[in-house]
Amino acid sequence: MTRLINDPENFPSEAAEGYLLANKRHVRGLYGGAVRATKTPEKKVALVIGGGTGHYPAFAGWVGHGMADGVVMGNIFSSPSAAQAVSVAKAAERGGGVLIAFGNYAGDVLHFGDAAAQLTAQGIPAKAVVTTDDIASAGPDEIEKRRGIAGWVPIFKTTGAAAERGLEFDEVERVFHKANSRTRTLGVAFSGCTLPGADEPLFTVPEGKMAIGLGVHGEPGISEEPLGTADEVAALLVERLLEERPEGNDGRVIALLNGLGAAKYEEMFVTFRAVNKLLEESGLTVVDGEVGEFATSLDMSGISLTLFWVDDELDSLWNDPVDTPSYRRGSVDSSDLRDDLGELSQEPTKLQVTEEGSDDSKKLASAIADTLDKLTALLDEKSAELGKLDAIAGDGDHGIGMHRGAENATVAARRLSGDGAGAGTTLAGAGEAWSATAGGTSGALWGVVLGAAGQGISDNDLPSDEQVADVVRRVADALLAAGGAQLGDKTMLDALLPFADALEAEVKGEGSLAEKWNRASAVATEAANKTADLSPKIGRARPLAERSVGHADPGAVSLAYIIEAIGQEL
Ligand code: ADP
Ligand code: MG
Repeated sequence: MTRLINDPENFPSEAAEGYLLANKRHVRGLYGGAVRATKTPEKKVALVIGGGTGHYPAFAGWVGHGMADGVVMGNIFSSPSAAQAVSVAKAAERGGGVLIAFGNYAGDVLHFGDAAAQLTAQGIPAKAVVTTDDIASAGPDEIEKRRGIAGWVPIFKTTGAAAERGLEFDEVERVFHKANSRTRTLGVAFSGCTLPGADEPLFTVPEGKMAIGLGVHGEPGISEEPLGTADEVAALLVERLLEERPEGNDGRVIALLNGLGAAKYEEMFVTFRAVNKLLEESGLTVVDGEVGEFATSLDMSGISLTLFWVDDELDSLWNDPVDTPSYRRGSVDSSDLRDDLGELSQEPTKLQVTEEGSDDSKKLASAIADTLDKLTALLDEKSAELGKLDAIAGDGDHGIGMHRGAENATVAARRLSGDGAGAGTTLAGAGEAWSATAGGTSGALWGVVLGAAGQGISDNDLPSDEQVADVVRRVADALLAAGGAQLGDKTMLDALLPFADALEAEVKGEGSLAEKWNRASAVATEAANKTADLSPKIGRARPLAERSVGHADPGAVSLAYIIEAIGQEL
């Protein structure tokens, strides 16, 4: 249980503040995260890492010479936004391009992918790349779907070393993919973790059992087995990891035993002793080891074992010196601080009104702000219910994220509408604020939803009923393109696509827009409830697909609530 809390909502930002104060000689804070404070040569490729927080030392502990140039910091277990990533990447980049690396979580994929596209469009070469070391999260035939966990250490360490040596962008990227392809991790948990301020853990492990293949965001394990001794746990982890020796290995491994938050060093050493023995007995050479906390999950009790299958190049990169807040080895002269950082922005850049909307559109903009305000209250009320649905197979943050997104979208919409913006610009600004603050997969996607709606509505004419249906279709298309999910994958699209179809049919008939919308809304609600029959094919819930059958998809349910509430405002 996390006890030292002032206010659960401010916990992530207060933690970030303390981290910055404690690491003055390593990092400087800015909007979105932190960058390296020490000098780096021009043209050096910048490695930017990140994701949700609650995993320290991952990721903020690894900014510094020999590892990352910047870290993007989300809320607890929730991906940061594209706007945050762009802010960090711009301060970190030195003219050699930016490699943004992270753990293959849906929200991170969307936000960091968007950030890389925005940076590239601004003339800064950037790529988003994912780590996929967790063997429990998908089969060997679907490695690209696996999530990243403690394998971050060797992958980021060697990629960072390659960048520090001055290798060109393509070469640094090659090292990243090679390191990732030679890293495998498996974890076990003895108890779940509790979000700061929450009463209950995100999942529990029955007494005397251990959960195999847990995720680091409180996603429950994929199976449970009787709790073993240290030697038995070591044997289980080693055996399963050795079933997946990567191609081209020559028997040299680096073994990393990671504590998930509440494991004691002595326990880990006892386990490592057995790990080392088992690996050597299998004919492997353990060239190096690491035991400690690297990728934690708040107060979760458990450990993970990572095997990093080195060759000469990776072994050599592994041995380069590194000096970061939490990971230091070898000798680095890093006393010289960067003097070109100046005042770093602590605020996101916000959309401004360049042209006033038409009178009609301004009225609509003001009504949109009012509606967003009502949605904020609604989502506050539904937050716990949505969070519970999300905790069944995901991480429990859907309610909090949706409420936070709507709240900030309302503030942005009020500001823009007050500045004379039309409906299109107001929706675009609301989407930008939602995406920048809500984090997570749904945060990115709701940013897309509002952005696409804004493009469809414009700042001039009021839409006809047919045009309203067209806007909904445009939103659905944008969501399909951004998230890559399809009908039946158990996402919000399973409510949105039937709604778009129903509304298109309705607007051809008689009655007021409100009547047509409300009839289509009933279709959306039914479709959202029906997602209970589906098994998730994408997103955080996928590794635990069966668990979610019988329960509706949180994103589809929240969307149906929102559609229904909009109907009441028409
Ligand atoms: P996260 O999964 O990052 O924790 P949330 O819990 O806020 O984000 O949102 C989860 C919801 O996002 C899911 O219930 C699903 O409806 C939606 N979702 C996830 N991936 C996609 C996708 N690719 N396309 C559309 N919706 C998605
Ligand atoms: Mg979630």
